Amino acid sequence: MFRIAGVEYIPVCPICRHIKLRPDLIIEQNNKYILFVCERPYNNGHIILALREHKSLYDVDYITLKEMLQISKKCLEVLAKAYSPHGFNLDIVHEPHLAIQMVPRWNGDASFVSVFHGTRVIAEPPQMTVNYIRSMCDQLGVKLLS
Ligand SMILES: [Zn+2]
Repeated sequence: MFRIAGVEYIPVCPICRHIKLRPDLIIEQNNKYILFVCERPYNNGHIILALREHKSLYDVDYITLKEMLQISKKCLEVLAKAYSPHGFNLDIVHEPHLAIQMVPRWNGDASFVSVFHGTRVIAEPPQMTVNYIRSMCDQLGVKLLS
């Protein structure tokens, strides 16, 4: 690949890009996984669990998939206590970078703004979500990635 010295390159992959550019939105991370708040949330409490390595669903084993679902379950339990949603949407991004998005949902949360203007009003800035989820984990004595 041709590179120009002194120029910082931003990853094209949205997950790698997010990890590199938004360390302020990381809730927890270990040597295999990273858990962070989405910088463009669909709703309050929208978090993403991803592999630290840039791998797709096709590149990982069943143990990894099982671990990711177990971590997601713990995350949903914390989000349920933190936000009291009516339910969740789980979205598996299978490639180019395996990730599970978790989005709290409330009855009637599709407002006229999102229907007619293609945008959403999010009451909670992403950095506030990081702090809120971390404090909820502390309060519950939960470590999400262990
Ligand atoms: Zn990536």
